[in-house]
Amino acid sequence: MRSQQIIKWGKPLEERSYDDPTPKGTEVLLKVIACGVCHSDLHIWSGYFDLGGGEKLRMADRGVTPPFTMGHEPLGTVVALGPEAEGAEVGRSYVVFPWIGCGKCRMCQRNATEQLCNQPRVIGTRVPGGYGDHVIVPDAKYLIDYEGVPENLACTYACSGLTAYSALKKLGALEADDYLVTIGAGGVGLSAVHLAAAVTPARLIVAEIDGTKRAAARQAGARETVDNGAPDAVRKVLELTGGGAAATIDFVGRPETARFGLDILRRGGRQVQVGLFGDRLPLSLAPLAMTMKSLLGSYVGNLDEMHELMALAKAGKVPPIPIEARPLEAANSAIQDLLAGKVLGRVVLKP
Ligand SMILES: [Zn+2]
Ligand SMILES: [Zn+2]
Repeated sequence: MRSQQIIKWGKPLEERSYDDPTPKGTEVLLKVIACGVCHSDLHIWSGYFDLGGGEKLRMADRGVTPPFTMGHEPLGTVVALGPEAEGAEVGRSYVVFPWIGCGKCRMCQRNATEQLCNQPRVIGTRVPGGYGDHVIVPDAKYLIDYEGVPENLACTYACSGLTAYSALKKLGALEADDYLVTIGAGGVGLSAVHLAAAVTPARLIVAEIDGTKRAAARQAGARETVDNGAPDAVRKVLELTGGGAAATIDFVGRPETARFGLDILRRGGRQVQVGLFGDRLPLSLAPLAMTMKSLLGSYVGNLDEMHELMALAKAGKVPPIPIEARPLEAANSAIQDLLAGKVLGRVVLKP
């Protein structure tokens, strides 16, 4: 097999060839058809997440060292089964649910909460992923049928779609006259705009600093868009919403965007943090208590949510995000374009 690998953190990926892996136990070997390039791949590639104040969360501290193959949105065809693998057919194609835990702890045993595991085996962030022509999946239960959904789109549901869907499900019960403001309309943020109507009756406003992305958000169904980089953005949203949003989702995760979200929430509102850009936010605690706002983290989604999302997609309730297919060898250009903020929707690599 060939893989585009991280050889040195932050340096261009390099192609390496290995023997095709042989699936053991319950493992399944897939030949990759498509794999999305995610914004969080930029952090993995650079070797760390920015915690602010000069602190970093390093991949090496998580036990991940080069050479490493990224790619947590793989989709492919089953080519070999381990001796104990059940529930997958050779020759059939599936989306891979990558958010896999140790399989043994209490959280993993509950099945639907595997992303709460302390010893994750996530495909493409902890174990080799889909930036190659083959990928090993530990069990067929992580393979999701996508019949009727185009493959280049279906793969993106494993992270960008699932992350958006799970964040929307964490908003609680919103009413049709409530406002939801999502911040950021890149890959995941734009997926949320497409999915929002299927999950919540709330009125959707999208905040985004880039005009092209705002236009894409309006096309995808946002009732209004605002430029959250403009000096009067908070006042404008408070006006539009008649006093503040019931819920916000920060798909960026910078201090400015998190602050903006909290400032436009009404009393009792809930903000869901999703984006991983980094740095830190000073938070005045008394006002948080007095305004009864809540701040909640959301990271990807669980296997049940993945099945729910795929059912929505198959039923045609999830309009497609823009997809740009590129050959696997173009992985470095995809990373550079994503770094430069030049990607609308998702780049999908094809081995
Ligand atoms: Zn991702
Ligand atoms: Zn576990």
